[in-house]
Amino acid sequence: MSNRQIKTDVILIGAGIMSATLGSLLKELVPDWEITVFEKLASAGEESSNEWNNAGTGHAALCELNYTSEKPDGSIDISKAIKINEQFQVSKQFWSYLVSSKLISNPQDFIMPLPHMSLVQGEQDVEFLKKRFEAMSNNPLFQGMEYSDDPEKLAEWLPLVMTDRTSDEPIAATKIDSGTDVNFGALTRMLFDHLQNKNVEVKYEHSVDDIKRTSDGLWELKVKNHKNGVVQRHTAKFVFIGGGGGSLHLLQKSGIPEGKHIGGFPVSGIFMVCKNPDVVEQHHAKVYGKAKVGAPPMSVPHLDTRYIDNKKSLLFGPFAGFSPKFLKTGSMFDLITSVKPNNVLTMLAAGAKEMALTKYLIQQVMLSKEQRMEELREFIPNAKSEDWDMVVAGQRVQVIKDTEAGGKGTLQFGTEVITAADGSIAALLGASPGASTAVSVMLELIKKCFPQQINEWEPKLKEMIPTYGVSLMAHPELIQEIHTSTDRALELSKELALSK
Ligand SMILES: Cc1cc2nc3c(=O)[nH]c(=O)nc-3n(C[C@H](O)[C@H](O)[C@H](O)COP(=O)(O)OP(=O)(O)OC[C@H]3O[C@@H](n4cnc5c(N)ncnc54)[C@H](O)[C@@H]3O)c2cc1C
Repeated sequence: MSNRQIKTDVILIGAGIMSATLGSLLKELVPDWEITVFEKLASAGEESSNEWNNAGTGHAALCELNYTSEKPDGSIDISKAIKINEQFQVSKQFWSYLVSSKLISNPQDFIMPLPHMSLVQGEQDVEFLKKRFEAMSNNPLFQGMEYSDDPEKLAEWLPLVMTDRTSDEPIAATKIDSGTDVNFGALTRMLFDHLQNKNVEVKYEHSVDDIKRTSDGLWELKVKNHKNGVVQRHTAKFVFIGGGGGSLHLLQKSGIPEGKHIGGFPVSGIFMVCKNPDVVEQHHAKVYGKAKVGAPPMSVPHLDTRYIDNKKSLLFGPFAGFSPKFLKTGSMFDLITSVKPNNVLTMLAAGAKEMALTKYLIQQVMLSKEQRMEELREFIPNAKSEDWDMVVAGQRVQVIKDTEAGGKGTLQFGTEVITAADGSIAALLGASPGASTAVSVMLELIKKCFPQQINEWEPKLKEMIPTYGVSLMAHPELIQEIHTSTDRALELSKELALSK
């Protein structure tokens, strides 16, 4: 190992959408800060952010039934849906700024308009969907949502789903045309190209193997260059651990107290992908169903039109499963090596609590292709096995921590930003709603880690994200304005794009 320390202002670990977003925000806020990125793989966006490893849903809570719950009095709680929708509007504003400033181009290479639909079957679920529609359609954030339980209308919206449907159970759907399909892999690569144009050093095939604090308050990283085996020491004033599933191990290495008593629970995924172009052409929407009883929220089945490699595709899934790896390219020892003296009790408590989930995930792994086809046939009754292949999706590491509400070892389904008390290091854990909310999550991180600079940065933040610091729900008059300006910049509406 070389004894020379290589100094920089900021180090971002991992070249996924989170580091790409944080790097792009910081480059606009403080162009002269030196930023270095270390990525252990050969290119950007190869893990969860890759287009084949996630579902590409621009999560705006337009169709995901798990973001709205039924309260004991039977009314529908849409507060989580409002939060996620507002976060997605923030992402769209930042992407629009990048496009309008010509920092990235061709928005259609990463974002496409696509109706978002929720589909349910059975009296109880139809009743729930109707109530949900009534609660949401009056809210300006969800304007334009339609509901139907008329089979003829549904056949118009969803020809593939309604053809050859023999069940006489009630069926209903909601549809909203302002949804999107986002190619987060393409966006990540575009953002890294942009960062490299701005002199950010992006070092691929370099893994960060250790992190420690130096006596002068900097963070020192031990970095291995996999091309030549050389190990170097790099120091920075601020480090972001954006290693996706790899973040927990790195956070533990940093030794910060905020990273203790936290564990990770990996959930793997499989998509079915349609290889028959005639079938692909008959569907044009993201259609989310309801998770089966006992299934975790990330395994809600959905049938999605996707735009990948400039081609329309059709994917179904994800089927959740269990693998001890924390990254798709990770190690079978990831889970076991994440158990430390400070989190062993938390992990054991979670293990005892989540037996049913573990059993469910293991059963899911064992499903044959034909059994998966049976689940797909709940969406497409006449789906043929020969038209579909299986593809392995990314790994999601759900956070396990002790909470007041859930007690010791509670499994979390959201994302968590963990920061040191002095803001010099931060890590992102968890996976949902994920990439769609990357901009809001990174803004929250910036606020926590750079409290001295945030006021000075506010004008630039408002230039990039006009509703920065403003709740859209409290200012409904802004909603239409934001929709129009982002739809125009991101070319989400043909008429607006033409009038640019
Ligand atoms: C099946 C599935 C479906 C999903 N669907 C959606 C969806 O529809 N919409 C949505 O918004 N989100 C979705 N997500 C979530 C979304 O994909 C993630 O939240 C997001 O991609 C995470 O980005 P990231 O940058 O944190 O991690 P990643 O993209 O995983 O990037 C982390 C990077 O860090 C690198 N790395 C790790 N350890 C080290 C190390 N020690 N040294 C150097 N480099 C390292 C890795 O190689 C990797 O490139 C889905 C995820 C999965 C798995």
